[in-house]
Amino acid sequence: MTARAADTEDGAAGAGHEAAPADDTTGAARATDTAGTTPPADRDPGAPDPRRRVPRTDDLLRDPRLAEAADRLGAAVVKGAVREAQQRARDGELAPEHVPEAVLGLLPDTASGLRPVLNATGVLLHTNLGRAPLSDAARRAVTEAAGPTDVELDLATGVRARRGRSALAALRARVPAAGGVHVVNNGAAALVLAATALAAGKEIVVSRGEMVEIGDGFRLPDLLVSTGARLREVGTTNRTTAADYAEVIGPQTGFVLKVHPSNFRVTGFTRAAQAGELASLGVPVVVDIGSGLLAPHPGLPEEPDADTQLRAGAALVTASGDKLLGGPQCGLLLGDGDLVRALARHPLARALRVDKLTLAALEATLTGPPTPTAHALTADPVALRARADRLAAELGAHGIDARAVGSTATVGGGGAPGVDLPSAALSLPEPYAAALRTGRMPVVGRLEAGRCLLDLRSVPPADDERLAGAVRAARTSDDQAARKGRA
Ligand SMILES: *Cc1c(COP(=O)(O)O)cnc(C)c1O
Repeated sequence: MTARAADTEDGAAGAGHEAAPADDTTGAARATDTAGTTPPADRDPGAPDPRRRVPRTDDLLRDPRLAEAADRLGAAVVKGAVREAQQRARDGELAPEHVPEAVLGLLPDTASGLRPVLNATGVLLHTNLGRAPLSDAARRAVTEAAGPTDVELDLATGVRARRGRSALAALRARVPAAGGVHVVNNGAAALVLAATALAAGKEIVVSRGEMVEIGDGFRLPDLLVSTGARLREVGTTNRTTAADYAEVIGPQTGFVLKVHPSNFRVTGFTRAAQAGELASLGVPVVVDIGSGLLAPHPGLPEEPDADTQLRAGAALVTASGDKLLGGPQCGLLLGDGDLVRALARHPLARALRVDKLTLAALEATLTGPPTPTAHALTADPVALRARADRLAAELGAHGIDARAVGSTATVGGGGAPGVDLPSAALSLPEPYAAALRTGRMPVVGRLEAGRCLLDLRSVPPADDERLAGAVRAARTSDDQAARKGRA
């Protein structure tokens, strides 16, 4: 249940910048007012009041660097930073001549409160950190699709074309057993669409061992029932046979649902009927594989994949795009051609449809080079250790108590429960955890036995220098905090 632990541990990660509400009167006007009042008693009455010298808002906004920032981030964000810096100068925390620099320092890097983070948790697909990181190819595809794009237009003929056809073709090419494919907003939406179209007012037959909570209080049974379908539970928590399903199948059955227990494992005296055994019952078998493996993965033999499930006789497979597939958040529906076409034409499909950015990222994920998730899954533990050794030596040379240690990473994000991935980490004193999380380049690690571990399996090698820089910066701010505390 790594995902749960991670949910609570990392809830505080990365509070975004908030722009102060727009203020019409300029801070400078207020500064003059305040400056006109009696100066504090501890000030030399002969010295000019520095608050009179706080730069005016209009003058600050004429600074070309701030004008550029206003173009990039919006005028309200820049004005908020201006007000804050002016206030600090009025409060005597800042020399008036340093106000322009202070404004620049207060500005966020991006126009969104979502900040880039280095995931050093060792959880490859961290729910709180947005699950799968996109490949460079997918990132470029998103940027290119951001403007007007031919998502629903055939440029050759000038007539309307199937939305996202190239992404859908790429998906279909990767799963030969799928007669049809469709993409919706996430895995839950894929299930809702299937349940609504195939079982509203009817029964979904599901094993008692597969009534799962996917995280943060969301339970699949509740989701399914919300569509107007009824659940027909069969078997027990640990054992359910094909005969248990056969006994309740009838005209009221919408479909049989198999759910992959993707975030827990039941071991011991267990039995579960496979899609192949249920395919002959005369009703569609829908398999929610969760993690989005399209074909078997040699390192994850227990993890179900779409192609194998369809070959075994499943009519429909549903999955997430941002788990083991390593793509953007989306939900995949793969299976029988007529069935998938019916789902794609259902009125609800319009409410669940994905945007062009998702389609672009998905296609680049499917056709492009291996994803960061794929690299992280197959990283060589010896190479991970070598990275940890090198980083520890480099940081040690800066006087930082950094050690290279062995560690255990996990897949996380609802995939491959119980699979331990041998890894290596940088071990730092515990106070680094908070300093790194709140730094300019936030790094999220994990606490283990009183040390802050930065697990390198979830950090792409290309980010090692950024990681080292963040650790050095955290050390510096630690020192400053300590000096402030003593002062
Ligand atoms: C993750 C998961 C879901 C939910 O998918 P989302 O993309 O998060 O909506 C549903 N079923 C299983 C088995 C899962 O692992």
